[in-house]
Amino acid sequence: MLRTANIIGSGPNGLAAAVTLAQRGVAVTVYERNAALGGACSNAEVTLPGFHHDLGASVFPLGVSSPFYRSLPLAGHGLRWIHPSAPLAHPFDDGSALTLEHTLEATAAQLSARDGRAWRRLFSSAVRNWPWLVEDVTQPLLRLPSHPWVMAAFGAPGLLPAQLLAGALFEDERTKALFAGVAAHSVLPLSSVASAATGIVLSAAAQAGGWPVAGSAIPGIYGAQALSHAMASLLGVLGGRVVLNSEVGRLSDLPRADVTLLDTSVEALLRIAGQELTVGYRQRLQSFKRGPGIFKIDYALRRPIPWRAAACARAATVHLGGSLAEIAHAEQEAFYGSPSRPSGARPFVLLVQPSLFDPARAPAGRHTAWAYCHVPTGCNLDRTQAIEEQITRYAPGFAECVLGRRVSNAKGLEEWNPNLIGGDISGGAMTLGQLFFRPTASLYRTSNSRIYLCSSSTPPGGAVHGMCGHLAALAAWKDHGGSLMPSRQRDALPGFAGSGLESR
Ligand SMILES: Cc1cc2nc3c(=O)[nH]c(=O)nc-3n(C[C@H](O)[C@H](O)[C@H](O)COP(=O)(O)OP(=O)(O)OC[C@H]3O[C@@H](n4cnc5c(N)ncnc54)[C@H](O)[C@@H]3O)c2cc1C
Repeated sequence: MLRTANIIGSGPNGLAAAVTLAQRGVAVTVYERNAALGGACSNAEVTLPGFHHDLGASVFPLGVSSPFYRSLPLAGHGLRWIHPSAPLAHPFDDGSALTLEHTLEATAAQLSARDGRAWRRLFSSAVRNWPWLVEDVTQPLLRLPSHPWVMAAFGAPGLLPAQLLAGALFEDERTKALFAGVAAHSVLPLSSVASAATGIVLSAAAQAGGWPVAGSAIPGIYGAQALSHAMASLLGVLGGRVVLNSEVGRLSDLPRADVTLLDTSVEALLRIAGQELTVGYRQRLQSFKRGPGIFKIDYALRRPIPWRAAACARAATVHLGGSLAEIAHAEQEAFYGSPSRPSGARPFVLLVQPSLFDPARAPAGRHTAWAYCHVPTGCNLDRTQAIEEQITRYAPGFAECVLGRRVSNAKGLEEWNPNLIGGDISGGAMTLGQLFFRPTASLYRTSNSRIYLCSSSTPPGGAVHGMCGHLAALAAWKDHGGSLMPSRQRDALPGFAGSGLESR
């Protein structure tokens, strides 16, 4: 029976693994190299005093719908989901915009009659069956789905390239662009097999569960940090610990435990635990592929972004990429381009403006935002000008709003969080092959029965949902003789009682 566990890394998946095991009575210690917990789900004042920026994730479509998070009393530990009036806005050069709305009908109502019908046809099953669909899409694909009919209805269009699906279904270039922008969250070329799946899942999430930002009921905790803080607080109540400023170089650095779960990259698994793994398994890990990186800018703003399309102020997330053809070209360049050759394509920019909906993040009347674009893996070229030209294209006068900015290229991101190798924020390319075999066919399990991988380099992959960590912990628990019934059910979980944080 499992009694003790070490977890390396306090990202969403490390904390989810820790809570899952602590719920079952395992004594868990999480070791985090940084001075703050949360990995790419954290917040800090990185531009000017009083401006609180989400360093990584900022919008949580899969967080709010995550089967594991939904089973936890996170509100009792200070987390608030804040829903903007529209999940997403996508502006166009003529000053108009399309929005993803909280219902299928409201989204479809903006489209031409034919596109409205096609939109309803594409999403109605996924939206209607969202609680069941999200259960299946946040599990490994290498298993029979729990709801095969729901998965079959989603899977058929989801397997298509996003570009092909949008072109076949929609007549209006604006509808095609709206879908393409959501599909581009896959960080795949839109001509790739299954790039439509991300577009369908995230659009259904918007129209069924929302795309909220995180807010905090606890003074001094801001934005995305509220989720990480709530998880650490719950862990503390369950008897677990997080030790900050504690970089693990080798497994032998850690006190002995029955199992160790690594919330790290595949490369770090090889470095930290390589000697304990078989040659064959190490070779399989070495063929795991990275996805494109990102170039990110955090902004402190004098006032809200002056969008030409008023609808953009209703959404926390704004997609700046124009047409499907433009977005497809930008994503193709990011996937196949050279890291040292400047891209000729205008980037597809994902922008988040959370302080419009959570004023605690900036001094009164001021605002925060971040914007990033995808770049070839390991690209350290400065994309500031290209990103700001895209913002200004839809918000003339943006430059006058900027009080401060911090730019992060692949190198800077990796220095902050070594999981973001080459700037890749998904833990490895989200290609169909790597969704099935992530990072190998044995998924969370390694060749050593005491070592597990629990980061986004395992299924279901990138984004904040905690499911990689939760499922890895369940695998470890089961492998070591545990029953799959949690020992402390949701109603028995206590509310806020402290943070469980320590520092070295
Ligand atoms: C800029 C950016 C924007 C994003 N936007 C969104 C978004 O809006 N919505 C969304 O859902 N997702 C978003 N993501 C993706 C999401 O944040 C990640 O998929 C998620 O955080 C992965 O969680 P994880 O626990 O696997 O790893 P991480 O969050 O990367 O955490 C890993 C942790 O392990 C620690 N660590 C690594 N090696 C060691 C070691 N040797 N010793 C000790 N500690 C170690 C790291 O310091 C880090 O704290 C974004 C990511 C980034 C970077």
